[in-house]
Amino acid sequence: MIKLEVIGDPIEHSLSPKVHGAALDAIGVEFEYAKVRVKGGELKDYLSHVKRDKVDGFNLTMPHKKDIIEYLSSVSEEARKINAVNTVCVRDDKLLGYNTDGIGFELSLNRNGYEFSRSRVVIIGAGGVAGTLAAQACASGAKSVRILNRTAEKADEICEMVKNNFPSGDIKAAEIKELCDKCENADIFINATPLGMRGVEKDFEDLSFLERLPANALVADLIYNPAETSLMKRGADLGLKTQNGLGMLIFQALAADEYYLEEKLDMQKMYEKVEKALNF
Ligand code: NAP
Repeated sequence: MIKLEVIGDPIEHSLSPKVHGAALDAIGVEFEYAKVRVKGGELKDYLSHVKRDKVDGFNLTMPHKKDIIEYLSSVSEEARKINAVNTVCVRDDKLLGYNTDGIGFELSLNRNGYEFSRSRVVIIGAGGVAGTLAAQACASGAKSVRILNRTAEKADEICEMVKNNFPSGDIKAAEIKELCDKCENADIFINATPLGMRGVEKDFEDLSFLERLPANALVADLIYNPAETSLMKRGADLGLKTQNGLGMLIFQALAADEYYLEEKLDMQKMYEKVEKALNF
């Protein structure tokens, strides 16, 4: 029996128990997976519980992905480079930190026949996930990465962070008004904003930038609810390939489970089982 948890604040709406539950069922492992509300600044108390109650590992969401790092015995290279951890394994009282968001997204690209390697990538948004994906793109040998965001300074910060770790990466921030121009040279377009998400009032006001994407480009939304956002629908109407965020959600969980179980999984086979079990 493996005992796992997910922590964050808020945590009520986390899909992690469902996704990990489906994945661990598919793998055939006996498990417990609980949601625990841990407020910012309360990690120390939470870690006492981990030790006392013999928790084998935990996933992290807002606001802990950075703050956990000072408590860890080791941090994987990819997590150190983006300064964010989403998975912690407990081994012999040691806490080992990893980040599976980047690889999770890249596996979802691969499933649709795309890869970061040699691709020109345009990302809209400059929050936590945009930074992770920009770093993953550069780590995997993207030809270029362009980041555009409402708050320009945040895109600049991501570029600086990624440049520090991947000096040879061609990564630059661009202004939102340059979106159409940047799309002309994109193989992979990623929406890393909540625009178009169920429950979020705002959506893209103008999707004409999609018309500028090359015919074989991919429109990747990180949103999975709704399953087809207005961005994806317009992309599909234009004949472009599209994907939603479900692939990333499932693959990042499967990659975390590989760490928990210390076992390599057949990711594509497992994906199919988990997707079917989730029935979104
Ligand atoms: P975040 O840190 O809150 O960043 C959100 C970004 O979106 C910010 O750069 C923000 O711009 C921008 N934004 C928000 N509202 C906007 C608006 N009305 N107009 C223009 N830009 C706006 O979020 P995150 O954690 O990076 O997550 C980004 C997206 O990925 C969310 O939709 C989330 O649901 C999704 N996600 C999916 C998965 C998955 O597994 N599929 C995992 C994690 C996240 P400012 O900087 O100007 O505020």
